[in-house]
Amino acid sequence: GRPGCECNACFAGPDCSIRTPNCTADADSGNPLFLEPYWRRHAVASAVVFSGWHRMSYTTTDGKFQSVELERQIRRLHGAVGNAVADDKHLVFAAGSLQLINALVYALSPDADASPPARVVATVPYYPVYRIQTQMFDGREYRWSGSTSLWANASRNSTTDGDHGGFVEFVTSPNNPDGQLCKAVLGGSAAAIFDHAYYWPHFTHIPAPSDEDVMMFTMSKPSGHAGSRFGWALIRDENVAKKAYSYLQDNTMGASRDTQLRMLGVVKVMLANLHGEGDIFAFGHDVMRTRWRRLNAAVSRSRRISLQKMAPEYCTYFNRIREPSPAYAWVKCEREEDEDCQEALLKAKIITRTGVGNEASSRYTRISLLKSNDDFDVLMERVTDLVNAEKFDA
Ligand code: PMP
Repeated sequence: GRPGCECNACFAGPDCSIRTPNCTADADSGNPLFLEPYWRRHAVASAVVFSGWHRMSYTTTDGKFQSVELERQIRRLHGAVGNAVADDKHLVFAAGSLQLINALVYALSPDADASPPARVVATVPYYPVYRIQTQMFDGREYRWSGSTSLWANASRNSTTDGDHGGFVEFVTSPNNPDGQLCKAVLGGSAAAIFDHAYYWPHFTHIPAPSDEDVMMFTMSKPSGHAGSRFGWALIRDENVAKKAYSYLQDNTMGASRDTQLRMLGVVKVMLANLHGEGDIFAFGHDVMRTRWRRLNAAVSRSRRISLQKMAPEYCTYFNRIREPSPAYAWVKCEREEDEDCQEALLKAKIITRTGVGNEASSRYTRISLLKSNDDFDVLMERVTDLVNAEKFDA
């Protein structure tokens, strides 16, 4: 049971322990509740309590809206995990990394009435929010320009200096939806925003610290505190950092100070337990690889659906070869008639997110592996039923 939980349609009761029979498994969102048991285990150490008078001001004493202490702890976390070189970067906090998407596109685009607007692109299958936000906030400085495959040659031959050759490329590594580590596709002077939401040892091996000019991180996936809405960018260039910071200032005056206090407590607990018994990455990897292994075991018997292939890889954090543990399964429907894979799985009572949003085909759909243990158990039941039913079709 999960006292104080927020139950979904498959569960009821004060601790969500009563099963709703025959319900539909919801594997749609990337809600990171797989870490809830970790924080229940560290409930006291991670508790943050503060009085009504505390942190009322827009800013800290030095006139900033970012906690210097939280900056210090995040730099320590990157150093200890070895997933990013943070020392020579500026830090910009935001309300989740969702808010950073547009802040960084804006920061990397040319000034409004200078050169033509930057073309913002990503590689299929890409995280749909890059398109949604870029189109939503479509200004004169930039416009959504689709898949990198349309532009790979154009940007390589571009001779425009400054303005990044007119391109801002999103690179999601590991990728959402398919979990692969990715490199920038456009070369030359194109700017790149590396979305490292999942570049933590729960979800991927860490071959080396990422040292890109512009990197995006979020607390939603490493600690699981998606509801706190906290993300940060690591930015090499001072002017780009200033521009992103001023966007955040004009937009929301930065991340909630209450959230920054809570994050400080959370990061301190994570740091204090690294490589020990309470290591959150060892815990997270263990949960995620077990889920991936169970799902693969079931799907390997299927000729109807298949998953992306992932191999064990050496990880500098664990100092050994580790089993794959992606945040999402990228499902392909193999049968001719299952052209709409999301629809096919929905008929089997599994809610997924269609690949159409990723500009992939409707033959693909995404299963979230990040949700609670209960959700995953229901998902496994539905997947097992789906695979077992194949025996009876001709
Ligand atoms: N980037 C990627 C690749 C994501 O998958 C997500 C969340 N699903 C985000 C950014 C946004 O996360 P948040 O706003 O919670 O930081």
